[in-house]
Amino acid sequence: MKMKLNKKKILLCCIIALILLILLSAVYYFQFTALGYRASVPYRSSFKKVTDNVYVNTNYSGNIEDAVRLTKDALERDRAFFGEMECTNTTVIIICDDDKLLSKLGGDHDTTTSFFPSKKNYISVSDEYLNIDILAHELTHAELHTRLTKKALKGIPTWFDEGLAAQNDYREQYSAEAWNEQTENGKKAIALTDMDTPSEFYAGTKEDKRFRYLHAKHEVSEWIDLHQQKGLLELLDKLNSGETFDSAYFS
Ligand SMILES: [Zn+2]
Repeated sequence: MKMKLNKKKILLCCIIALILLILLSAVYYFQFTALGYRASVPYRSSFKKVTDNVYVNTNYSGNIEDAVRLTKDALERDRAFFGEMECTNTTVIIICDDDKLLSKLGGDHDTTTSFFPSKKNYISVSDEYLNIDILAHELTHAELHTRLTKKALKGIPTWFDEGLAAQNDYREQYSAEAWNEQTENGKKAIALTDMDTPSEFYAGTKEDKRFRYLHAKHEVSEWIDLHQQKGLLELLDKLNSGETFDSAYFS
């Protein structure tokens, strides 16, 4: 009888410990990880929804109408690029001008993608980077990540993800002229295999990174010129059906 009671007590303690562990993990995820914090933005009082999928911090001091217009313009630019946008239901855009909240968001112009419980993209942009080029760049990541399966997404090199996003970033610093000038018409180009992974692509100084963006944009731009939108959509289909990136992209 006593044994049975002890077993029950142990079981109860285990259940309570498990519940506590789950609760602590959830608190840690939503409060202390950038992805978790972004995922919880729609439920936080420090943010407010201004239009479908667009949130700003409650004390945002910029012009909200301008911010909404910019996101719509960026979406239109990307719609022309892809034909249609599938990411509008899977993407949350967070615009923020509060440094404390930005540090919790973990980025001031980037896109993170979560896969659980369903795929969702979270774009965080500070007022410093709030312009059509950066929004269109981030929305291109969101669209690509939405269209690819998790497995296909894990198989693409970073230079392709960034190079594709840069197609919708029209800033002079990433133009064909800038590429010609900085690479001496391709003589100083970087091998694509040297910027396959995030740790390779985002390494070094701001200038190093900018040079890789420039080169990734040039590479994908030449590919798009050759294959057009139709070829791009076919490439994504091939990746989703299990073909390797090298085989689908370079054939
Ligand atoms: Zn990017």
